[in-house]
Amino acid sequence: MLVVMDAAATSEEVRRVVETIRGLGLQAHPLPGAQRTAIGITGNKGTIEPTAFENLPGVLEVIPVTAPYKLVSREAKRENTVVSIGGVAVGGEKVAVVAGPCAIESEGQALEIAERVRRAGASLFRGGAFKPRTSPYSFQGLGSEGLRILSKVRRETGLPVVTEVLDTDTVDEVAEHADCLQVGARNMQNFALLKRLGKLRKPVLLKRGMSATIEELLLSAEYLLSEGNYEVVLCERGVRTFVNHTRNTLDLSAIPYVQRISHLPILVDPSHGTGKRQKVLPLSRASIAAGADGLLIEVHHQPEAALSDGPQALLPEMFDDLMEQVRRLAPVIGRTA
Ligand code: PEP
Ligand code: MN
Repeated sequence: MLVVMDAAATSEEVRRVVETIRGLGLQAHPLPGAQRTAIGITGNKGTIEPTAFENLPGVLEVIPVTAPYKLVSREAKRENTVVSIGGVAVGGEKVAVVAGPCAIESEGQALEIAERVRRAGASLFRGGAFKPRTSPYSFQGLGSEGLRILSKVRRETGLPVVTEVLDTDTVDEVAEHADCLQVGARNMQNFALLKRLGKLRKPVLLKRGMSATIEELLLSAEYLLSEGNYEVVLCERGVRTFVNHTRNTLDLSAIPYVQRISHLPILVDPSHGTGKRQKVLPLSRASIAAGADGLLIEVHHQPEAALSDGPQALLPEMFDDLMEQVRRLAPVIGRTA
């Protein structure tokens, strides 16, 4: 259920609606928009009587939300959400490029790559300290030491940092160092983790599970918003299909689909989406052309020696080229880069 306030409603009138909702033992989610404020109601087991709100001062209308997702939907908020990650806007006019190595391997490696991607024009640095690996014998990341290195990268380059959080136990430690916490594909439906991150006041980058539908992706995002965290960025990273010419099948149709039904920004990760260095540039162009709010790109200065995902990492010179092409392409669809 959504209580839509009149454009001229006062903050006192909004507060009164919020209190009425809470008085019924339900949760109220005020969603301010450019034209008007809507207040989402969650926590109800059955239907709510609209008459409880219809006659309150400042209320324009009360509408039932028919979609399974409530707070992430455009019914709840018409304008695009712009998420600020350490001061960098994601979801605005400017295409945001998040770049860095799959894993933080050493201070020297991280600083070298961060400096290269910063010079090329990336707006955010990403590197994994805690890595979800298919095999328990593969490199699992530097853990706490990796987080310390990420903080140093931010200090030295000025780039805000994004890094993955694997479990509820490490949320506080990761949040201390990261400007944005990534939930990886394998954790998209780790509901305990989502609920915990929903209580955090830090942006979350939520990657699509490798066999998740868009409805499932949006419902996972709904977990975050329903706990009070509205700073959510989605990421299409490919799904598993029968094809074997790429690591995953990058589903670019997800972008306009998500944008039609949700106000949340969406990035595309052509690195994991293809698993192949040579495919990253063409699919980055396609992602921007399809309307993505940004890209997530893996870069390594010595990919043959990388401890994870070397075959899909761009060399820094290739990333320079990618940024140049994104800068030229963005204005064609009315954006900047
Ligand atoms: C990653 O971003 O490095 C990663 C492990 O990606 P995904 O969760 O999409 O597989
Ligand atoms: Mn990776």
